[in-house]
Amino acid sequence: MTERSEAVQPARETGRPGGAAPGTGRSSRRPSDGSPLRRVRRDVADGPFIVIWEATRACPLACLHCRAEAVPDRHPEELTTAEAGELIRQMADFGRPAPLFVPDIARLVCDQGALLRSVFFLVPTGRGRALSALSPPEAEDVLHFLYDLGTTIPVKTTEAHHFRRVAVQRLILAEHGADHAETLGPLYRNLCRRARRSGLIRDSRVRRPPVDVNAGRGFVFVSHTGTVHPSGFLPLGAGNVRDRPLTEIYRSAPLFAALRDPDRLGGRCGACEFRTICGGSRSRAYACTGDVLAEEPWCGYEPGSFPYQSDLARHLHTP
Ligand code: SF4
Repeated sequence: MTERSEAVQPARETGRPGGAAPGTGRSSRRPSDGSPLRRVRRDVADGPFIVIWEATRACPLACLHCRAEAVPDRHPEELTTAEAGELIRQMADFGRPAPLFVPDIARLVCDQGALLRSVFFLVPTGRGRALSALSPPEAEDVLHFLYDLGTTIPVKTTEAHHFRRVAVQRLILAEHGADHAETLGPLYRNLCRRARRSGLIRDSRVRRPPVDVNAGRGFVFVSHTGTVHPSGFLPLGAGNVRDRPLTEIYRSAPLFAALRDPDRLGGRCGACEFRTICGGSRSRAYACTGDVLAEEPWCGYEPGSFPYQSDLARHLHTP
């Protein structure tokens, strides 16, 4: 999918929703006359507002809302890698590009200047319960691989809070000239081999550091019925905005307060020196154990095992 423009921006002057102001370089116009429509500033005869490319119908899920009637396997007549590359190039002629199920699609997208790789780690909830999970060592391999990919396209992870631990560890290991890969497994080596073959791992870009937030700690989710959750993947409500202000729920609900206190975490997370910047996925802990403060099931780190403990203080913070 490639978008030619244009996130809807809040109109600060009026407080009404609408497009960005004229002259900001965005291609939609904020209505100034109460119009219910946001106008496209380009000639739509010259190019589309948005291009959607159904790269594949292969998907392991079976969402009820899916219009594509997804199937497990790729269609034999899907576009080849070369054809897909040409299509993306043509999209770029309109404006700028962006989708991972098709071989080499990551490189094709990268070549067209993609700005971010957004990676979701499975939380076994809803239909996701039927999907197979990574083992903790495999999750570790994937996290380190994603860190390496960050040299090409910045990486953002969802429900992989230990990516922050990996980022800190890799920085310190690099400072010491130590080999990060010696404790990693075959999945890491396979992923790296394939990525290097596709030119996806380079040493040229500035990394995008992961943001230090977690469920209820810098993050809040309001459902379509107004229930306030620490995360969209965590079906524990702390109140409803129909009854209490969101600010009040976020700041003082016991659930949110507990999630912001790393000393209340259980298992390895509770004993972990990285708990103030990580804390693991509270959603996955809850989905797997029923205890929102239990240890992160997909983390393979043994607290205290990182060899350069004295270097950590400048990267961690006290709660
Ligand atoms: S043990 Fe918990 S706090 Fe420590 S790195 Fe793993 S997920 Fe994070």
